[in-house]
Amino acid sequence: MALKRVWTPTNNYSSGGTKTILVIHSMEGFTGANGAKDCAIYFQGNVGASSQVCIDNNRGTIWEGVARQYGSWTQCNYNSRAISCEQSGYASWSKDYWLTNRSNQLHNVADWLAEESAKTGIPLVKISDPNGTGVIYHSNLGPTGCGHSDPGNGWPINEVLAWAKGGSTPAESEEMDMAASVAYYNGKPYFAYVGPDHKVRVNGGIIDKDNYAKSGADIDIDQTSGQKMVCYTNRDGLLCTYLQNVGDSKWYWENRDMATI
Ligand SMILES: [Zn+2]
Repeated sequence: MALKRVWTPTNNYSSGGTKTILVIHSMEGFTGANGAKDCAIYFQGNVGASSQVCIDNNRGTIWEGVARQYGSWTQCNYNSRAISCEQSGYASWSKDYWLTNRSNQLHNVADWLAEESAKTGIPLVKISDPNGTGVIYHSNLGPTGCGHSDPGNGWPINEVLAWAKGGSTPAESEEMDMAASVAYYNGKPYFAYVGPDHKVRVNGGIIDKDNYAKSGADIDIDQTSGQKMVCYTNRDGLLCTYLQNVGDSKWYWENRDMATI
């Protein structure tokens, strides 16, 4: 989809040269509901740092602080050649965590890469040598590029580049199996199902507002502890498991991918 770019200008930039690399970062924080906006506002301060764009899990909207032809202050000596994308999150996150919990964000990054590639001619290929031209991690820039380790080995570059090349399609166009399920605890029924917005609910409450289901949802309840467990498949085809303890309103994501059992 065409991204809505909210212009959030900062004075933290230098002149730019010929752009050759699209650089992927993680903010190492800013994981709140409006992390990208918060980070863009942070970069407006006298903080000696900036990014062309800040991206989070709010689908379709990104925050742009430095025009692409300038050098944002994110990669030290590569700033003049780089167009940078800062994402909410941490380099320590696993691939499963990114795909399960940050699907919207990753699709936003894919759309951003597609738009930047179309404007600049920089190809949508992952490179690790900063003397080449393509999409590169901040960590690939080495000490000359500030010596950082983001966005981390778990960041799902192959998926994001596939979406970027193919156009990022929303789940709404996909065919879905929306089977519901029920389990009882102390005589009370608990229904798990997927709503028209593709979000999983238990007795009406959405268990994760950021995540979307591709399958129906299955619920099971441990009759000893009362702990509820809901499983479904998300839009990327990954198993998602959420747990809720008795007396707690919050659902917790837990990695129970089949490969780990
Ligand atoms: Zn970085």
